[in-house]
Amino acid sequence: MSFSDLGLSKKIIDTIEEIGYTTPTPIQLAAIPEILKGRDVLGIAQTGTGKTASFTLPLLAKLETGRARARMPRSLILCPTRELAAQVFENFEKYGKRQKLSVALLIGGVAFKDQERILDRGADVLIATPGRLMDHFERGKLMLTRVEYFVIDEADRMLDMGFIPDIEKISKRIPFTRQTLLFSATMPKEIQRLADMFLQNPVRVEVAKASTTAQTIDQKLLYAPPEHKQKRLCLRDLLKSLKIQNAIIFANRKKDVEIIFKSLSVHKFSVGALHGDMAQSARMEVLEKFKGNKLQLLVASDVAARGLDIPNVSHVINYDLPIVAEDYVHRIGRTGRAGRSGNAISMVTFEDIKALKAVEKITENSIDWIDEKPSEDDFSASSNSRKRSHKNKTRGPKKYSNEVQKPKPAAKKVEPKTIDKNIIAFGTNDHIPDFLLRSSAIK
Ligand code: AMP
Repeated sequence: MSFSDLGLSKKIIDTIEEIGYTTPTPIQLAAIPEILKGRDVLGIAQTGTGKTASFTLPLLAKLETGRARARMPRSLILCPTRELAAQVFENFEKYGKRQKLSVALLIGGVAFKDQERILDRGADVLIATPGRLMDHFERGKLMLTRVEYFVIDEADRMLDMGFIPDIEKISKRIPFTRQTLLFSATMPKEIQRLADMFLQNPVRVEVAKASTTAQTIDQKLLYAPPEHKQKRLCLRDLLKSLKIQNAIIFANRKKDVEIIFKSLSVHKFSVGALHGDMAQSARMEVLEKFKGNKLQLLVASDVAARGLDIPNVSHVINYDLPIVAEDYVHRIGRTGRAGRSGNAISMVTFEDIKALKAVEKITENSIDWIDEKPSEDDFSASSNSRKRSHKNKTRGPKKYSNEVQKPKPAAKKVEPKTIDKNIIAFGTNDHIPDFLLRSSAIK
């Protein structure tokens, strides 16, 4: 089936042809005709499936007739993060270029006055993060009484970020007669409760089982040292050993994002950083550079994990496994998008074993190790010697050097003598996985 069979307008079909899409993705095939019919839709789809176009295209078609009034938007799309909101905005601009509709973006970090001016002109499409929308609403600059189409995107992320009470408040201000579309990558109980509350007789459209990862992503694990400097060295070796077109490196803590970013910059990698404490303008700038291939690597916290549409990311690297297992699905969803192939490599220390089990449980998948799987003993030995190393630190001089040494060629066998000096976190030589002996990760 092609786009012209879905009931979209000629203007939209022409634009899609120009962009170069030939076939609708499964979520588009399922959702577009239902949205055009006026049905509420509960869409369960992970990022990378073409989900944004599945609601953007039919909404553009529906909004072709009619006119916006000042401060009274005709449609409202709520997104959990500024980046995702900005991306949905770009999608409306891209797909709606023949429509001349007014599309407004309300996100934090941008002056209220500028946003008020845009609202005053009237918006056919208003894309917003919940917090900023509530601010405008409470300042009396916005009315939601003429909203005909209400979209909640990435609902499970909204839940994680504590936005549900805001969304409930917002939804009460939108007329009951509206059409509502709710999209979520996963379907925890709380989201089902929301769906029951917000949607009327919805069509359920599901393209991948909740919490599954795309089949096109080659997932691997890399046994890594827990000590920070050595782990960063391990990361650099990994980066050098891969054929990376561009990669996102995820770390759990903003502080670590900064440290990894600085370390990679010092080692002359082409790299940017993205985390929630950065100013909005700096976040946008780094994202643009990464999208425009001016940066090869992006070190990011989970703020970037969801929804960002960066085509052709060849690799996702988890510097550490996420604290919430579901974030793994979203992180690696940055690669292998829309049927392309991708690679996801997670660095795993003995401290991550619980997190790894949680990830494997949620994805119902046992992930392969880059080299042979470390044994339980490897992990317990590492754990014990780590404990010993902490004790030793308080008692006397350090048993190993923190100096980062120049990496050796990966294939060269390292002499046990060299290893003895620094291997404290891995127990005896017998417990060192093969690939570490061969790599320059520990010297
Ligand atoms: P999304 O899941 O909305 O983040 O979309 C993922 C990527 O797929 C985006 O880069 C879209 O431009 C692209 N895309 C969406 N629909 C199609 C399609 N029918 N054919 C090819 N690419 C698509």
